Amino acid sequence: RAKADGRGTLRFFEAAMDQELEHRRRLEGRLRHAVKNKEMSVHFQPLVDSETHYPKSFEALVRWTDEELGPVSPAEFIPVAESAGLIIQIGELVMEAACRTAASWPLPINVSVNLSPVQFKRPGLVGLVQRILKNTGLPGSRLELEITESTLIENRDEVLSTLNQLRELGVKIAMDDFGTGYSSLGYLQSFPFDKLKIDRVFVTDVETSDQKASIVRAVVAMGHSLSMRVVAEGVETEAQAALLDRLECDELQGFYFSRPLPEPAVLDFLDPFVKASAAPKS
Ligand code: C2E
Ligand code: MG
Ligand code: MG
Ligand code: MG
Repeated sequence: RAKADGRGTLRFFEAAMDQELEHRRRLEGRLRHAVKNKEMSVHFQPLVDSETHYPKSFEALVRWTDEELGPVSPAEFIPVAESAGLIIQIGELVMEAACRTAASWPLPINVSVNLSPVQFKRPGLVGLVQRILKNTGLPGSRLELEITESTLIENRDEVLSTLNQLRELGVKIAMDDFGTGYSSLGYLQSFPFDKLKIDRVFVTDVETSDQKASIVRAVVAMGHSLSMRVVAEGVETEAQAALLDRLECDELQGFYFSRPLPEPAVLDFLDPFVKASAAPKS
């Protein structure tokens, strides 16, 4: 009996794996089609000053709606794009679009772009960033690049050299999803980050969990002692925003302030700030 159950379970898993593989193949095919036809777009989510709620930068987030599959989340297709090598073209497209768009904003607000470890490893990344800055006219100091801990695991010296070359262009480096990856602490002092983004898991329930609040407080203290700005991701409520400000996070990002927005909606979002900066001082 146990044996029969075991075999049934195995067959069930095999069927599930076949289905998974099939889905992945289909996704990869559609992704190739989308990259060839440049069907991806970029949305922008503001990061605001935690005290004034004034926008400091926008994070560029890739968006894709396939004819057959409908909207597909980057959490689903980025890993497939990485293993299929398509992330190189997607990453270039996103960076170019992000920098071009940011260069046209009515206020000199920064833009941040996520970098996949696969992109980061490729020789020529620094040249690519340099070329995009030149072509779009965006000053390097207005570009932030977000990397995750997985980028830092191998080839420490090469990674460090690439980060330093990027910083020579004036570009800022942010550690994304902090606290969810591997070691963390050693990385913080070995690599030159300008910014630390505390992952959403520590922000969810921060207002009701003393433990989470303690973790945030400790990460902020650590980040500040290493001269980094500290950002909280995934802020969804007013209570979280107020507490994270009291915990001395520098910037906040999340649905409470705004969902990721298409380009025209970014201009609407900025409009009151443009008006405020143009108003005569009284
Ligand atoms: P991430 O870089 O950590 O980006 C933040 C994600 O959290 C975004 O999901 C954003 O929409 C979501 N988010 C923001 N505020 C809130 C909130 O208050 N609550 C909740 N529940 N979620 C919030 P998105 O756009 O689906 O992207 C998921 C991940 O996919 C990103 O995580 C990033 O790792 C990756 N990704 C997105 N765009 C790109 C890209 O252009 N290149 C690369 N390499 N990766 C990208
Ligand atoms: Mg990010
Ligand atoms: Mg993140
Ligand atoms: Mg995240």
